[in-house]
Amino acid sequence: MGENGSILVVNAGSSSLKFSLFRLDAADALQLAVRGQIDGIGTMPRLKAKDVAGKTLVERDLSLEEAREVKDAIGLAGAWLREQFPGEQLLAVGHRVVHGGADYSQPVRVDEAVFTALEKLTPLAPLHEPHNLAAIRALRETRPELPQVACFDTAFHRSHPQLADLYALPWEYYEAGVRRYGFHGLSYEYIAATLPQAAPEIADGRVIVAHLGSGASLCALRAGQSVDSTMGFSPLDGIPMGTRPGAIDPGVLLYLVGQRGMTPAALEKLLYKESGMLGLSGVSNDMRQLLESPEPRARLAVDYFVHYVAKEVGALAAVLGGLDGLVFTAGVGENSPVIRARILQACAWLGVTLDPDANQRGDARITAPDSAVSAWVIPTNEELMIARHTYRCVIAV
Ligand code: ADP
Repeated sequence: MGENGSILVVNAGSSSLKFSLFRLDAADALQLAVRGQIDGIGTMPRLKAKDVAGKTLVERDLSLEEAREVKDAIGLAGAWLREQFPGEQLLAVGHRVVHGGADYSQPVRVDEAVFTALEKLTPLAPLHEPHNLAAIRALRETRPELPQVACFDTAFHRSHPQLADLYALPWEYYEAGVRRYGFHGLSYEYIAATLPQAAPEIADGRVIVAHLGSGASLCALRAGQSVDSTMGFSPLDGIPMGTRPGAIDPGVLLYLVGQRGMTPAALEKLLYKESGMLGLSGVSNDMRQLLESPEPRARLAVDYFVHYVAKEVGALAAVLGGLDGLVFTAGVGENSPVIRARILQACAWLGVTLDPDANQRGDARITAPDSAVSAWVIPTNEELMIARHTYRCVIAV
């Protein structure tokens, strides 16, 4: 195990840093060895990590000095990994970077010029990009010889036709970068790469992938390529999410700013943290809690979620000119038979016939054998996608 070295995958956010170590086995296949995270960066930091069997390897509080910023957290994760795997040769680090702008349609090895170009994208994703880049910068300073690869959540959607990249604003805004970028691209790319084995009969067809987690979106695939998706300029658009409203009439925002005097910061908090399932239900952003709650507004929030997912499935089926398959993935999509069944019932008009037992068991295929459109449950694996990209960019060049 690991005789050919390893690849570290990093997902750095504002208050947490997730990391996974993949080792190259004798056949150069990537094998997950450990998955960990440092939460509460800058407040009450805590390190947790589990091995591949789910056994806890470490779980301890850190002092604030140990993890005041992302750069401290990545140093600490590195030190812990070296202690855990002495002698392991780290070959490269792959980073999840939320925004690759209009130009990056592929992952890229980060050098000085790329780093400068990525810094210029920060205004497009001010909540995430600075933290993603802070992790890259910290490693460039402490381990300059270590190859680093940026893997973008937007890149997979660069195969969209131009129509799906536009807003009907004056053209200068498009030129200035106001475009529909789409997100969750690493998840969709992983699913598209998995379809030929997992669901060969639809892999070359018209497929909608529903990434339903705390962030949620849908992607239309034609022969494994993204042609449209529900998220746009930012990850706020599209279907409702845990704490984000999904598509909203811009007139509401004009009203809040113009008539209610809401500041940009307050609006940002409302749209990213206080809306969606949490805002509607007043109970929780967590789908499990909503499904268990007797509160009428919790039920209403679930109804709203199902309604809008089904509505957007219809819209993307129209874009694709019909539908061959529907794939559920991420936390809700992989784990909630109730939500899957309700969405599929609302999509019955498309020719989807649910197999309730297969759905309850969480089988890979959850529709009846004679269903015109098949539906599937396929677990996503964004970290593995990043590790594969990093391997291809650095080692298999
Ligand atoms: P993130 O976007 O944070 O990675 P996940 O993909 O892990 O999110 O999804 C988190 C969501 O999945 C939460 O709303 C959680 O309630 C939901 N979830 C997880 N397991 C279940 C389940 N068994 N039933 C319903 N919802 C679930």
